[in-house]
Amino acid sequence: MEDSTGRECPSCALPVDADAEECPYCGYEFPTSRSSVKIVAIVMALLLLWPVFELLRYLFG
Ligand SMILES: [Zn+2]
Repeated sequence: MEDSTGRECPSCALPVDADAEECPYCGYEFPTSRSSVKIVAIVMALLLLWPVFELLRYLFG
């Protein structure tokens, strides 16, 4: 049985919360950086919204 909301620490094999950046039991730091993922999401959103801003500027500028 695998819990989709959690994951297993590769260091101590204990179930860890999926949102945890490091294992609360052994202190293992998970390689996936949530902050960098967030930055990528923001950049992607800006890239997607940029043509809309340009269009609005073209229409109303
Ligand atoms: Zn651990």
